[in-house]
Amino acid sequence: MLGVYFHIPFCRHACHYCDFHFSTLLKNKEEVIDCMHVELGRRKEEWSHSELSSIYFGGGTPSVLNENEFKKLFDPLALGISNTTEITVEVNPEDVTLPFLNKMRAFGVNRLSIGVQSFFDDDLHGMNRKHSGQEAETAIKRAQDVGFENLTADLIFGIPHSSTSKFLMNIEKLFSFSLPHFSSYALTIEEKTVFGKWEKQGKLVEVPDERMESEFFLLHELSEKAGYEHYELSNYARAGQRSVHNSNYWKGIPYVGIGPGAHSYSHGNRKWNVSNNNEYVRSIRSEDGRYYELEKLREIDILNERLMTGLRTKEGVLWNEFPSSWREEHANVLEEWQRKQWIKQDEQGFSLLPVGWLISNNLISYLFLTHED
Ligand code: SF4
Repeated sequence: MLGVYFHIPFCRHACHYCDFHFSTLLKNKEEVIDCMHVELGRRKEEWSHSELSSIYFGGGTPSVLNENEFKKLFDPLALGISNTTEITVEVNPEDVTLPFLNKMRAFGVNRLSIGVQSFFDDDLHGMNRKHSGQEAETAIKRAQDVGFENLTADLIFGIPHSSTSKFLMNIEKLFSFSLPHFSSYALTIEEKTVFGKWEKQGKLVEVPDERMESEFFLLHELSEKAGYEHYELSNYARAGQRSVHNSNYWKGIPYVGIGPGAHSYSHGNRKWNVSNNNEYVRSIRSEDGRYYELEKLREIDILNERLMTGLRTKEGVLWNEFPSSWREEHANVLEEWQRKQWIKQDEQGFSLLPVGWLISNNLISYLFLTHED
């Protein structure tokens, strides 16, 4: 089993909160996609011997690609795609036109991830999103009408200048579409973004932790009542509808990442491509140019990664994945966390409870292994 991830490093505009790798210089798009096609060919040995469990177009904004550009990335993979391959494309609502949806179906795309974020125009405008709430609704309905059953949407919580009551209305609106899956992320203010600059200048104040927490718990409770399983810190699914791509990533199943800024992982080897479109193109074009960094993970790094990814999931981690000395070393603190209802543990292993998820970074770093046994 193997996943392929395409990082499409282009957006038509920059959202005020986003610190992903992307460029708004769309005139370079064709050249970057050509180089991604070259990278895919050069790395054929890595992906051509496995059944593809998932293909994921993320970014950036994959829906800015035209038909020819999608074709350059899909065609080489044709033989690895089966009728069980989950093929996801992230889309912005303003791009979800009928011709676009038909094009996606013709390519065999069977899952769309729609970047809704909020259904309120003032929230969207404040974050410099370029679609309206109505366009987000239309995008979901249109995708459903043309037969996309496997849809997911993103909602943001903790939006500055918004409120918990508006977030509640966003949840209710989202649930009215009966999607099989959705994701929800906290809006964090990152230094190199417009929001980061405004915060430094005193024009924007970070949302208080209490509001963040209440919105996180509100969503957790309402989603469970509505029949969704909160299966990962930021992800919710109906039974049998978890994201294959992300679930495999959390389980440590290999994936090949193509494009500027994309990461790859295979059996303890991590690879990450340069996060700069021009440098990526230059390196790919120069044949021997190095467009990536490689790291061979030590056993201890693999275990720490297992902790980080496993504890973000509902299943958590298994005791037998870790040295028994590590469990003994942390037995008291884990008992205490269990009393505080941050975690639950049993004979098999342990996992974080929703309160623990809120402080997961602190808890996980406390548990990191620091020496090999
Ligand atoms: S949030 Fe999405 S659309 Fe907005 S800048 Fe970031 S990657 Fe682009």
